[in-house]
Amino acid sequence: MIPFLDLRAAYLEQKDAIDAAMARVADSGWYILGKEVAAFEAEFAAYCGTKHCVGLGNGLEALELVLRAWDIGPGDEVIVPSSTYIATWLAASAVGATPVPVEPDVRTANLDPDRVAAAITPRTKAIVPVHLYGQPSDMDPIVALARARGIKVLEDVAQAHGARYNGRRAGALADAGAFSFFPSKNLGALGDAGGVTTDDDKLADRLRILRNYGSRVKYVNLEAGVNSRLDEMQAAILRAKLPLLDAWNDRRRVLASRYLERLGSVDHVEAPHVPQWADPVWHLFTVRCHDRKRVTAALDAARIGWLIHYPIPPHFQDAYRHLALGKGAFPLAERIADTTLSLPIGPHATVAQIDAVVAAVRAAA
Ligand SMILES: *Cc1c(COP(=O)(O)O)cnc(C)c1O
Repeated sequence: MIPFLDLRAAYLEQKDAIDAAMARVADSGWYILGKEVAAFEAEFAAYCGTKHCVGLGNGLEALELVLRAWDIGPGDEVIVPSSTYIATWLAASAVGATPVPVEPDVRTANLDPDRVAAAITPRTKAIVPVHLYGQPSDMDPIVALARARGIKVLEDVAQAHGARYNGRRAGALADAGAFSFFPSKNLGALGDAGGVTTDDDKLADRLRILRNYGSRVKYVNLEAGVNSRLDEMQAAILRAKLPLLDAWNDRRRVLASRYLERLGSVDHVEAPHVPQWADPVWHLFTVRCHDRKRVTAALDAARIGWLIHYPIPPHFQDAYRHLALGKGAFPLAERIADTTLSLPIGPHATVAQIDAVVAAVRAAA
């Protein structure tokens, strides 16, 4: 049996450090907005190469609060990928703005800068490229387009901790980066957690107020904020895990290279394309299948875990029925949803397991 992802193995590898971190917090008597959060924020900002990191409750609220801090709301448009996890769209909806979907570059599944340019209107206030599956989007042309028009760019970095674009870290490529530290992400807590990286002092300050009931000083409320704080326990766990992030991403790279090498010649699946400027961190290893049912049946028979990211594109979800985006509205997103398949990958998968997955995929021809 080959699991899709082994989170327990991730804990066990670092059990001593994580247990010590949890005990340190329990013993401190201070559980919300303390030393651990401040230290993690400094360490993660240094890792990404930004001036600030602000720890928040989760990835969705990280996206949402940045849009809110930029005063984006009803009547405004936010450009999002047509093919992404629905959280990217939900963040725009949560502030009352309209998500404007743009189709990806077919080869990478990430936002196509030319299509972004065509989708900009006078109402466009922000663009949210997603570094889907751990592969950075083509950021420079998108940021250049946005700068020329006074539009903000927010990276959705929930799947790309540590990825690089032309040598620079994801999360430091635009006006702000929204991270999720959900347990299954490349850097994951043992619960919900999120954060925003930015060089913008004003944005960081506003996020610190928004996450804490709109308050900078206890019982003095400057605006109607929310409760979305990274907690001390999760911050301490993330601090224990951050020093291993690069090594764990390297293990994913080794496995991804093996897949690329061995699946390249299999003609019923299409392996991912990696542009020359991208250094992906392989949050997911996805292939596109000519006959996905056959491949998943073969994986099931071999007791190999698999998932589909994502089976229903956001524009087909009931949550977005009101946008009336019917079948054929975003054919590339629809094609990706119909053909994509995620194979096991993670810092605790082995080369032997990857070879067994490849054998099962090949046999499904
Ligand atoms: C996981 C994820 C999110 C949301 O993060 P949560 O912490 O689960 O709220 C947002 N965007 C993308 C692309 C994700 O994969």
